[in-house]
Amino acid sequence: MGSDTKIKILGAGPAGIAAAYALNKAGPHPAGVEVLDAAPRLGGNSTSFQIEGIWCDYGSHRFHPVADPHVLADVKALLGDDLLLQPRHGRIRLGGKWIHFPLKITDAVLRLPKPFAASLIADTAFKKFRKKSSGAATFSSVLYDGLGPTIAENFYFPYVKKLWGLDPDELAVTLAERRVSGSSVGKILAKMVRMLPGLRSPTTGRFYYPKKGFGQISETMARAAEANGATFTLNAPITRIERDGDRVVAVWTNGANGEERMDSQMVLSTIPITSLVRAMSPEAPSEVLAAADAIRYRGMILIYLVLETDQFTEYDAHYFPELSTPISRMSEPKNYNSATTPKGTTLLCAELPCDPGERWWDMSDAELGQEFCRWLGDLGLPVTMPVKGCETRRLRHAYPVYDLKYQENFDVMDRWVSGLEGLLNFGRQGLFAHDNTHHAYAMAYGAVDCLTEDLSIDRDAWTARRAEFAKHVVED
Ligand SMILES: Cc1cc2nc3c(=O)[nH]c(=O)nc-3n(C[C@H](O)[C@H](O)[C@H](O)COP(=O)(O)OP(=O)(O)OC[C@H]3O[C@@H](n4cnc5c(N)ncnc54)[C@H](O)[C@@H]3O)c2cc1C
Repeated sequence: MGSDTKIKILGAGPAGIAAAYALNKAGPHPAGVEVLDAAPRLGGNSTSFQIEGIWCDYGSHRFHPVADPHVLADVKALLGDDLLLQPRHGRIRLGGKWIHFPLKITDAVLRLPKPFAASLIADTAFKKFRKKSSGAATFSSVLYDGLGPTIAENFYFPYVKKLWGLDPDELAVTLAERRVSGSSVGKILAKMVRMLPGLRSPTTGRFYYPKKGFGQISETMARAAEANGATFTLNAPITRIERDGDRVVAVWTNGANGEERMDSQMVLSTIPITSLVRAMSPEAPSEVLAAADAIRYRGMILIYLVLETDQFTEYDAHYFPELSTPISRMSEPKNYNSATTPKGTTLLCAELPCDPGERWWDMSDAELGQEFCRWLGDLGLPVTMPVKGCETRRLRHAYPVYDLKYQENFDVMDRWVSGLEGLLNFGRQGLFAHDNTHHAYAMAYGAVDCLTEDLSIDRDAWTARRAEFAKHVVED
């Protein structure tokens, strides 16, 4: 390991990789940069791997054209012709019907279940007269007031219950602000109008996707950082972050060579903020550790079903908001990069929100494969071709859980961590932000911009950046 490197980056997901890339963009950084990750591969939750010769991701991943222009320009330059601009072609299962997603006006008019459409029109017509919720705003009150009972109760409420395992009135308002880009029927209609031919921009209803899976973006960025001097050490879990008073001075890993201590002058951490505070040595104050115990990330199982057929459906993703289906989404990876090979084989990837301890978590691959086939049958998508196999992957930190107390708990950890010298904390897991990959890249660029030549942090500049990050809106 490059123990003489002064900058240690914790986590080789998109945020850690983008930080290494930005630090070395103009040539090798004089302080030396080493990225450490517990996992055996780069890319964090945005990595890709092959099953039966098909590139697949940890669930549906798209690179959204709304990315910050600097980030997008870098991604385009790094990937070149390997970055495809693909049309979105998904569908939502609602009331026993399929509705195209992104929503199209014709589809919404012709295909929405009639009672649903009638209630939706009534909600919109009588919005002005609807009694607004009183008391402190929650996810549930904001959606109810903005969208009306029909969409809120039939679509969003069951969907969030499935994703987060909590009732909508147990979720904080932040989730509505970050997650729901169409927060009123007017905004949803405006989005549909922008999809009409003649009104849409070249990227409306489209997404970027690399030829070799979503992870090719981070992989390529990591190789570029490496070419300019950054080192990446995998299978190196961070076990301890050593501090001398309020200054972080070293990180400890437990890798192939056993426990190892590495001096640091600046640690850029993108690992979960809970793991960060728990790893502190000497220990973080008790209230900080209590806050880490009280805040929660939601887990997810990805079930990959290998089928003996060229293509299962023409759609990239199927969304299942209703609670009758345990999975939240299903994707067909070959449809993301329009792969035509391998012939005679396709994959389906189901996203099953689930925490360790829940009954699905300990099921075998074969059992989960059987369940997946049963759910598909119930949805009118029977698996009629031979099943060649089933594999699963488990994510412990898929989504931050925005319960009603999360902000308080996060603030306790954040205030303490922000008071430490020689440490800067960011990324989706670090800032407990339900953000996209392009946001993780933007955070990393922002962090590097706030690092001074003598490797300290321009705190005022960082505070301003944090205020920008708080405005990120998640794209689906
Ligand atoms: C189901 C799903 C679908 C998604 N779809 C999209 C999409 O379509 N488009 C999009 O832009 N984004 C999508 N995202 C979000 C995207 O995956 C994240 O925004 C992105 O991966 C965040 O990058 P990060 O580096 O901040 O965190 P992560 O990717 O989580 O990386 C953190 C890294 O830290 C490492 N780590 C953790 N603890 C330790 C430790 N103790 N020691 C050493 N290393 C450690 C982990 O191994 C990991 O590599 C999706 C996420 C999920 C779960």
